[in-house]
Amino acid sequence: MFRSGYGDEVSQTSPEQTGTEQRCVMFVHAHPDDETTKGGGTAAWLAATGVRTVLVVCTDGGAGGVTDHALLGGRSLAEVRSDELAAAAAIMGFDVVHELGYADSGSESEVPQGFASQPIAPMVDQLTDLIEVERPDVVVTYDPEYAANHPDHLRCHEISAAAFAQTTTDAGGPRKLYGSRFFSRRRVQAMHDWTVVHGLESPYERALEKLPDERFTTRIAIGEHAVTARNALREHQTQIAHDHRWFYTIPDADFAHVYPWEEFELLAVAPGFTLPMPADVESDLFTSL
Ligand SMILES: [Zn+2]
Repeated sequence: MFRSGYGDEVSQTSPEQTGTEQRCVMFVHAHPDDETTKGGGTAAWLAATGVRTVLVVCTDGGAGGVTDHALLGGRSLAEVRSDELAAAAAIMGFDVVHELGYADSGSESEVPQGFASQPIAPMVDQLTDLIEVERPDVVVTYDPEYAANHPDHLRCHEISAAAFAQTTTDAGGPRKLYGSRFFSRRRVQAMHDWTVVHGLESPYERALEKLPDERFTTRIAIGEHAVTARNALREHQTQIAHDHRWFYTIPDADFAHVYPWEEFELLAVAPGFTLPMPADVESDLFTSL
């Protein structure tokens, strides 16, 4: 049992496993580092409970900013980010990482050869092949509304949704597609409240003005794995400096207790797979499977 900062007791159970077959979840992300901040605690928690976790990262992250050029050591940003990704994925316990290696489009699609500007059909085929090889029960990508914030995030959602639809009729094909987002409004509000209680200037106030109150179907109790994902984010040092106030104001000892959950939205299910009318928010990506 894990106790949150709000005094709620959070039951942390293992995901529903049936028989002897190992469950598998595939997370599809756009850039190296997205795996830590969008559903990262859930990925780490699933891996820790024996679920096979597969990470697909579509782009090389080469259009990102650089916090400190000394970190590159004369190498390209894409090369360094690939190493950062490997270190982060190891911390989170991913069983395998597939780097598709498309060029990062940049936040305004300023890279003409970028992921978001290339023909989509071969990308869907590539991801379809990966799903057929890895046979995940569940695929997690971005919620489309959230994904609209970056051309690569949107393309990532589009190819995931298309590849999911193409594989659901396969024997052993995936049965649920979820959308993840960045930290939810609830989570940011909890982080803001922590800074207020501790008499600190809140770096979250402006984000709270902009963040919508997202809908969600599923809330996962990630417990201490909030910190696992945070430790993985620390490996992405070219992107987020270790003194970044937004990410690191709250000390590790308190971080997981401030908001030990992550939210997802169920976007699609395999045809013929009938979900019972949800009486409540799901607490497991494998509910009803
Ligand atoms: Zn991204």
